[in-house]
Amino acid sequence: MATRVEPDFSLKDFLSSFLLAEFFKGMLLTGKYAFRSKITLEYPEEKTPLSPRFRGLHALRRYENGEERCIACKLCEAVCPAMAITIESEERADGTRRTTRYDIDLNKCIFCGFCEESCPVDSIVETHILEYHGESRSDLYFTKEMLLAVGDRYEPQIAAARAADAKYR
Ligand code: SF4
Ligand code: SF4
Repeated sequence: MATRVEPDFSLKDFLSSFLLAEFFKGMLLTGKYAFRSKITLEYPEEKTPLSPRFRGLHALRRYENGEERCIACKLCEAVCPAMAITIESEERADGTRRTTRYDIDLNKCIFCGFCEESCPVDSIVETHILEYHGESRSDLYFTKEMLLAVGDRYEPQIAAARAADAKYR
């Protein structure tokens, strides 16, 4: 014998649909937020503030006299969990050691900041630069010259960010 199926219907649901209750609830919510201050920004014209610790594109820094800070200790290379850093070095005539090669493969980098934290002379740093891209893997392979060029160009911002964060380090 066939079982009779009762329709899933209630007076409350009927009135809710008939009086457009959901529609007015939605309009109420829209009206509530329409006059509040906006929480979205018109990127890229407007940007959110960045922490001094923001970890963007890498840079190699120099001292004020133009000398490279990096002393080729290779701590950054050793600590990098992604094995993204490759360093080769040699001793100079004056007995100091400097890199002959310092590459970072940003395709591998996970932007953990360990390289920056490990550096004893504040040489390798992560800048506030986040708007860059590569169209092939090789575009994101940064050599020593490229990293020094980033450092030279953005040194005022790098120094300001480190000064702002100095009391917490
Ligand atoms: S940020 Fe992390 S993953 Fe990237 S190069 Fe530095 S240590 Fe390696
Ligand atoms: S960048 Fe810093 S940690 Fe890396 S090799 Fe140079 S001095 Fe050492």
